Amino acid sequence: MTSFEHLIRAVPDFPKSGVIFRDITPLLADGAAFARCIDALIEPWQGSQVQAVCGVESRGFIFAAAMAQKLGAGFIPLRKPGKLPPPVMYADYQLEYGTDRLEARVGTVSQGERVLLVDDVLATGGTLGAARNLLGQLGAELVGASVVIELRALQGRNLWPENIPLHAVLHY
Ligand code: 5GP
Repeated sequence: MTSFEHLIRAVPDFPKSGVIFRDITPLLADGAAFARCIDALIEPWQGSQVQAVCGVESRGFIFAAAMAQKLGAGFIPLRKPGKLPPPVMYADYQLEYGTDRLEARVGTVSQGERVLLVDDVLATGGTLGAARNLLGQLGAELVGASVVIELRALQGRNLWPENIPLHAVLHY
């Protein structure tokens, strides 16, 4: 067990019946534990010459921005539709009911820029997959991805290409 796993709160039946939601806010509220989590997220990428850390709205922003500061890299936000001023590029992904979309500012990544992708949780893998597609469209060189939590039962890793490293700090 990591030194911060006890700060992830399991919330049954949220946001709907049958789902166990992993609440990261107790971890964020503990400064020392949050710092250890950031260290664990960046640990595999220390020698990887990451130029920018890309976070997925909204909880991904919290981790990605802190990681960017520690790696001496920039921060790139991937946002929900309609939040960024034009011009934007987008990638759609499947939800249980319907679709959702991530958007990025055109020009936010330079061609071949070495980017690390970050989110709080990998569940079914749809979000991280769309983020990967979008970074590809933007011309990024995807170094890999880091998530705080991987929910193994949902098999999101199966949608992720084997040749791109995917690092999860905690598994449930
Ligand atoms: P996926 O697209 O992999 O099914 O879902 C991942 C996205 O949903 C992430 O952006 C994450 O923030 C959110 N998410 C799904 N389940 C949980 C959860 O149990 N806890 C938290 N904090 N976020 C979740």
